[in-house]
Amino acid sequence: MELNLGAHLTGKRGTPDYFTGEVWVEALAQSPSSNVQMARVSFAPGARTAWHTHPAGQILYISSGRGRVQKQGEPLREIHAGDTVIIAAGEKHWHGAAPDCPMQHIAVHTVVGGNSADWMEQVSDADYGG
Ligand code: MN
Repeated sequence: MELNLGAHLTGKRGTPDYFTGEVWVEALAQSPSSNVQMARVSFAPGARTAWHTHPAGQILYISSGRGRVQKQGEPLREIHAGDTVIIAAGEKHWHGAAPDCPMQHIAVHTVVGGNSADWMEQVSDADYGG
């Protein structure tokens, strides 16, 4: 399933195995020499990733809207357009939109051994609600 987002971009719907709600993922760039990937991810209100880790960490730049991010063992944080979130290597976390507002972020991460993320359980409504 694909969505034409205008200009030159094509988004793919995020799989329900790894996301709750409506999420679209656009691959923006990949560097073969460094295995760095950049993607734009759009979350509808209430949508979020499952809990997951990245083998080499991740940088998130919130490009529009308002959302939520949580690292395991830490309180949920609200995030807004212009914020940057740094996820350490192996740090369990999730990210998504606010319940009443969409959120879009640019994600940058490194592929290690062919893998950029290890996916875990979905974020429960209780965890999502804080
Ligand atoms: Mn992540």
